[in-house]
Amino acid sequence: MSFSLMATQLNGSALAAAWLLTVYAISLQSMVIRRVRANERDAAVAWVLGGALVVGTGIWAASFLSLVALRLPIKIGYVQDVVLASWLPAVVIAAAAIWMQTHHQLATRARILGVLLVAVGVLMLIFVNASSVMLQPAMIWDGSATLGAALVLLLGCFLGSLLMDSDLERDPHQARHLGIAVLVGSIIWAGMSVQVQGIGVALNAVCLSADQLSGDSLEFVLTATVLILLVMAHMGTLQDARSVARNQVLSESLKAAQTALEEASHRDGATGLPNRLGFEQQLRHIIDTPSDVALNLNVLRLNIDGFHAFMATYGHGVGDGLIHTLALRLQGLVREGDVVARSDTDEFLLACRGLPDEHTAAVLAQRLQDAVHEPCLVQDQEIIVSCSIGISSYPDSATPEQLISHSNDAMLTARRAGGGVYCFFERGMDRIGASQVEMQRDLRHAVARNELVLHFQPKLRATTGELAGVEALLRWQHPTRGMVSPAEFIPVAERFGLIGELGQWVIEEACRHLRLWHDLGLDIPVAVNLSVHQLRQPDLEQRVREALLRHRVPARMLIMEITESVAMEDIEASLRVFDMLDQIGVRLSIDDFGTGYSSLSYLRRLPARQLKIDRSFVRDLDSSLDAQAIVEAVVRLAHALGLKVVAEGVETQDQADILAQLHCDELQGFLFARPMSEHTLMNWLGQRGNPSPLSSATGAQVAPAEEDVREAHDRATAWSDIEAGGLPGHA
Ligand code: C2E
Ligand code: MG
Ligand code: MG
Repeated sequence: MSFSLMATQLNGSALAAAWLLTVYAISLQSMVIRRVRANERDAAVAWVLGGALVVGTGIWAASFLSLVALRLPIKIGYVQDVVLASWLPAVVIAAAAIWMQTHHQLATRARILGVLLVAVGVLMLIFVNASSVMLQPAMIWDGSATLGAALVLLLGCFLGSLLMDSDLERDPHQARHLGIAVLVGSIIWAGMSVQVQGIGVALNAVCLSADQLSGDSLEFVLTATVLILLVMAHMGTLQDARSVARNQVLSESLKAAQTALEEASHRDGATGLPNRLGFEQQLRHIIDTPSDVALNLNVLRLNIDGFHAFMATYGHGVGDGLIHTLALRLQGLVREGDVVARSDTDEFLLACRGLPDEHTAAVLAQRLQDAVHEPCLVQDQEIIVSCSIGISSYPDSATPEQLISHSNDAMLTARRAGGGVYCFFERGMDRIGASQVEMQRDLRHAVARNELVLHFQPKLRATTGELAGVEALLRWQHPTRGMVSPAEFIPVAERFGLIGELGQWVIEEACRHLRLWHDLGLDIPVAVNLSVHQLRQPDLEQRVREALLRHRVPARMLIMEITESVAMEDIEASLRVFDMLDQIGVRLSIDDFGTGYSSLSYLRRLPARQLKIDRSFVRDLDSSLDAQAIVEAVVRLAHALGLKVVAEGVETQDQADILAQLHCDELQGFLFARPMSEHTLMNWLGQRGNPSPLSSATGAQVAPAEEDVREAHDRATAWSDIEAGGLPGHA
């Protein structure tokens, strides 16, 4: 069936208004999406709904205006209810488009579906709006125009989806944004126009709704109203963007202020170092950081002696200057990764890693002390201060709190000792008596004041009664306390980190005597006692070698006694040190044997030459068969391992006889001689001539063992090597 159609015209101003609204609505859509993305949940939902309302209204109005642009020779009107009813689907379509676009990186399938939905929605809008014009006969749709419109709309929607996405991923840019809105809006507008152009009206058609919505003002009122709406929404987006940006700046500056505040609460204002809180935090971090290797960690608390009195005299300015200088010096002495903090007005806390043992920690403490003691030039005044250092070690003190509080206990002990010293933490330290603290203070000056002296106790061969050597035993002649026993002051020296110096003094003195006696024609091996702290000195071998060299003494003249329990405490370390000393030719002896719990396999590995049976076994020899059985077993074992056996604390002739019968090699004890000064020893030797106390007691004269003769010969050779300029070690 063919109809004659009315001539139709498109009204330019209505088309222009439709174009304006479409472009504006599209532009607003991406602005709304930005707001949705920038806001939190509730505000975002409000923006989706509000945005859909405005954008949907814009598109709805644009589609209606495209239709209004179609001018017919007859008067037409639009059924109000139908026009209004088409508004809701427009809003829903806009909501879907906005919601879709708020999701970053949309899946392709979802994007295609969304684009289809929107394009078909817009197409349907025109149909529905057109159906509000009730024509008799009904209007005719040109199929190819509708298809063309659908394709253009699809293109517009697809392009819009892609371009808007890429635009939203970047910073807002007016020109680009406007360009996209104009391009996409124009395509969609063109699609709507093409569809409207495909409407045909029969020549004889009558409009049944001519008395409904119509008139020239309709176009103007609608455009104006919707434009106002769009402008208002536009303002809203701008306002929101501004306030979100302001909030962001505010929250960022708030965050920065909070961080700065937190940092400040962990820092010392004067030095810029961490304060006590900051130190604890970093210490916790060090302990909590998982690692494959065992953590070596020491906390050193360094307190400036008499700082408050100093401030009272010099004033705060000088005090601050001093602290500043000291802070720099301390920082210069620690390794990277260590922590230096100022924990109090007169106090620094240091967390130092990689100090393998107490000795190394002590070396660092001494260095810190020396650095603090160096003169400081502050405000043209030369200031010299000292400090007290308390040291705690991980994992003995296992938590940051313990490390800090134990270093405090140790520091207080060091301070009570008069300051200027360092001290390691020990359990029950807070209960250390004042007398020990005082003793420690005096002991620090003992070497310089020549209050230390070596006494010597002879060791005799069990078979011949000949002098086999002497044991050097340290004595302290205190100006007021009199002679102080090593059993009393050695533990104090160990606790306060002074044993290294004392031990070195003993080695030097022993070598000096060896040389002195040799020059007098006496060839007496000297045994010195080594403390656990000396055993851990990394440079012990070098110190011994240097002392031997200095006094030109063959190493084989020196014996080093190490208490069994100490040697067994850290077997690997003992093995290392023993091997090193053995290498240079110094002989080693296991002291107080029987008091520790030696493992036979370890005993076999130690390159010791001598084993000293503890006094407690010797004491019971004449009364207990058990003690005899033990000594016999020890002697057998020692001989099997190639060790000589010395019995200590021999006080009675019976004990001496039994020990000789049990094939003990050497005897030492009050029965023969007490430890005595060098002068007394010389007299003792002189009086004795060469008679043996053993032989005088038993009446037997025993010939020297072949082994002893060889030993004497080797020693003589060693001495002549030295005199000829050889090294003190093995030839
Ligand atoms: P020690 O190495 O086992 O020394 C033997 C101790 O037994 C000495 O005590 C000595 O006087 C004592 N003694 C010797 N014969 C007898 C005896 O017949 N009966 C009794 N009741 N005692 C006897 P001293 O001199 O008081 O030394 C005690 C400990 O102090 C030593 O035990 C040694 O471990 C340590 N010591 C001494 N001098 C030094 C030293 O220079 N450095 C180190 N690190 N420790 C030392
Ligand atoms: Mg000893
Ligand atoms: Mg002993």
